[in-house]
Amino acid sequence: MNGLDLREGLVAVSYLVAATLFLLGLQRMASPRTARSGIQWAGAGMVLATVATFFVPGLQNFGLMATAIVLGTVLAWGSGKKVAITDMPQMVALYNGLGGGSAAAIGAVELLRWSDAGAAPSTVVLVLAVAGALIGAVALSGSVIAWAKLDGRMDRRYTFPGQQAFNAAVFLAAVVLGGLVIHALGVPMVVAFFVCALALGVLMTLPIGGADMPVVISLYNALTGLAVAFEGYVLGNEALIIAGTMVGAAGMLLTRLMAKAMNRSLASVLFSSFGASGGGQAIEGTQKPIEAGDVAAMMAFAERVVIVPGYGMAVAQAQHKIWELAQRLGERGVKVRFAIHPVAGRMPGHMNVLLAEAGVPYDLIADMDDINPEFPNTDVSLVIGANDVVNPVARTDPDSPIYGMPILDVNTSKQVVVIKRGRGTGFAGIENALFYTDNTRMLYGDGAEMANALVAELKALDGGAH
Ligand code: NDP
Repeated sequence: MNGLDLREGLVAVSYLVAATLFLLGLQRMASPRTARSGIQWAGAGMVLATVATFFVPGLQNFGLMATAIVLGTVLAWGSGKKVAITDMPQMVALYNGLGGGSAAAIGAVELLRWSDAGAAPSTVVLVLAVAGALIGAVALSGSVIAWAKLDGRMDRRYTFPGQQAFNAAVFLAAVVLGGLVIHALGVPMVVAFFVCALALGVLMTLPIGGADMPVVISLYNALTGLAVAFEGYVLGNEALIIAGTMVGAAGMLLTRLMAKAMNRSLASVLFSSFGASGGGQAIEGTQKPIEAGDVAAMMAFAERVVIVPGYGMAVAQAQHKIWELAQRLGERGVKVRFAIHPVAGRMPGHMNVLLAEAGVPYDLIADMDDINPEFPNTDVSLVIGANDVVNPVARTDPDSPIYGMPILDVNTSKQVVVIKRGRGTGFAGIENALFYTDNTRMLYGDGAEMANALVAELKALDGGAH
């Protein structure tokens, strides 16, 4: 074996080890208990794959590669350190899009290089380069729009007459241009193809709003993986192929799960946006405020309490106080459980992560399907910072933007207490009928402050014994 073969062999073995680390990391991410180490394993795999790439025989442009890595590391490290925990979903959307953008960039470079050289590779490689570029470009521009919507920089639903037909035409144009690129390479054609692909990502994401964003975010995640795998094949890079395939497969599974949780097919998410029909019927009645002392007493003498967290708990970072509250109630013999809606918060698993961070045991956390039949036997449901995921109009008002979305049926419990700061709406931007029902009381205030007040009132009830 000569030196070159040995080097190639070592690179291939490193890629295999890196792929194994990705796989083990992904497996560990399946449980909040091991998720943190899963990220570290996958990160180690990524470092190994990156270092190994420097040893690929015949590689050029070391200076440019090193500059890109230093720039990327500094930017990611800086933004990762300073991002507010509530802005994490936007950041995930953006980073995910950048992965798609990188795949599209590989496609662009290769297509332009082949155009320049006037020599095309095999048709399979060309088709994969074009397909990866199309999917990656859509994931990039789509994720940027998703980021802007999650960050509140853009209207959440942007529609115009004839939108579906227009989008279909742009999609067709992108496919035709891709076909032309495969048929005859050339710089103007490649540029037109990319402009069209990027426009498609923007146009596809503009009308999606209401409660459909989680599905779209996980779809772009899957598309990014697929694009990376395709471009990995083009470059003949095993690490990219394996990592991309894993992200693509995991993303597709997540997309299916999220779509199922929303009771929506992927086609209806993409082609008939929630909220296209308007604001829904007016809601009658008044919101009835309550004081923390009364809520504490209500819960202290209850048999069963269900706590329903939502995005507002993440904003308030109230998870630790809420867990302390649950423990105090538990000490009094109250049976407390937590109910999690699959799209509560702003990213898949958002509430699970927060509750795990606070140390809530998994056997106290129930999924929507398991807990919904329990609500009629629940004395008090304590909703903290959740809104859309407990809005009964999703069942009752066909004109509502969230009609058809499965919800947590808290309105069927005996008493409901909602902690929120005021009359602010949730992500879907609509009124919540739950807040106006006879058995609901509103505890206005910041989630952490109110949880604190409830703990203090419980202590007072116990005569400061704890
Ligand atoms: P919502 O966004 O519907 O509601 C959050 C509520 O929290 C608001 O009504 C707000 O009311 C309240 N709130 C905000 N800050 C505080 C605070 N400091 N203390 C107390 N309350 C606060 O949250 P849900 O979790 O119910 O629903 C999630 C929504 O986000 C769904 O529509 C979902 O589709 C969407 N989404 C989910 C994603 C995911 O992957 N999970 C991704 C993207 C979107 P007020 O201002 O009055 O305090």
